[in-house]
Amino acid sequence: MTPRFWAAVTLAVLALVVLVVAAVRVPWSSPPAPRADQLAALRDLPADAVERGRAFHAALRLPAYSSLLLGLAVSLILGLTPLGARIVEAVGKPFGGNWIAQALLGGFVIMLIGEVATLPLAVWRERVLRDYGLSTQTWGSWTVDLAKGMAIGAVLGAIVLLAFFGIARLTPDWWWAWLSAGAAGLVVLLSFVLPVLIEPVFNKFTPMPAGELRDSLTAMAARDGVPVKDVLVADASRRTTALNAYVSGLGPTRRIVVYDTLLDEAPAAEVEAVVAHELGHAKRGDVLTGTALGALGAAAAICAAFLLGSWTGLLRLAGVDSVTSPTALALLLAVATLAGLVAMPLQNAVSRRIEARADEHALVVTDDPATVEQMDGRLALKNLSDVDPNRLEYLMFASHPSTVERMAAARAFARGER
Ligand SMILES: [Zn+2]
Repeated sequence: MTPRFWAAVTLAVLALVVLVVAAVRVPWSSPPAPRADQLAALRDLPADAVERGRAFHAALRLPAYSSLLLGLAVSLILGLTPLGARIVEAVGKPFGGNWIAQALLGGFVIMLIGEVATLPLAVWRERVLRDYGLSTQTWGSWTVDLAKGMAIGAVLGAIVLLAFFGIARLTPDWWWAWLSAGAAGLVVLLSFVLPVLIEPVFNKFTPMPAGELRDSLTAMAARDGVPVKDVLVADASRRTTALNAYVSGLGPTRRIVVYDTLLDEAPAAEVEAVVAHELGHAKRGDVLTGTALGALGAAAAICAAFLLGSWTGLLRLAGVDSVTSPTALALLLAVATLAGLVAMPLQNAVSRRIEARADEHALVVTDDPATVEQMDGRLALKNLSDVDPNRLEYLMFASHPSTVERMAAARAFARGER
């Protein structure tokens, strides 16, 4: 029994557990509401707003697809030719080819090349957001956000690369076992610390001020049997006019966050409907499900990297001797980028089902489908959603059911069908 055999067995077991978790924790059995209801909902939305959402998404298409393709092309060119390995070697040279310098500086330079290549497209995207009045940022604050994101990426990347290549050097045959466990642990840890360490880098969070709305939200959570310590308000208006809310964190760091834009724009009953949706996520442990799937996926990726290491043709293509050398980091990144692209529609299919269940929860808890539907319409209008996107984009990129699907679900609920 070789380490290769055990890595393949572990990979197979992890894949099986992913399937079991997805089968058990994701509500696959409830299909979207009837298309007839969706079309009726579409007719009831203001035509000019629907058109504006479509035009906005049409304007975003070129920068978004270009960025996706360019990012992929850059990572494939760096990873599947010797170019990436040469860059890593070159930046490590002043340090005598020390592996730590290669991993840290090489990783940083490879990340920077990808960022710089797609930067003009990010600027283009932001321009579209401004043209349509969705972004409230200045170029100064936009650049600060970009720099913060890159700094967080650099720190996390440095930890991951040092751990990966360090442990791979210590135990050349069994690193995949240690690193699989480590990668899974890191995903769980990140889920815990995200709300306390990373989200505050970008936004300020304050407890919702005392008053009628806060009382009614707390009472609703208590009625629903979901212990919520606090509902927090994020200062999203410094960045966007979009309305949103979300739940993040695990255990003691779990919180429901509402955008300040939502409080300013929506009537109290609609804010309640939004929070009822978030309570649905909390009640079903959706953050935990996402974390579990992410942790299993990360562990599987490490096993796959070990197995790829014996594919000599691939290593020759990248001009490296082993995946455990820092010169292989561009190759590993290219494979990860491809895998991420393949996984995207699957992740989104899971997400849409979980979101639809949270919508249903909001309908049950509020027992007010008319308000839920009104809230769906308001969110779509303010966020310039494509309310009924084309099938291919929906399957590839949509993390939530479409606006007309959500409204149709409210109509079916009102008729007592759900
Ligand atoms: Zn949701």
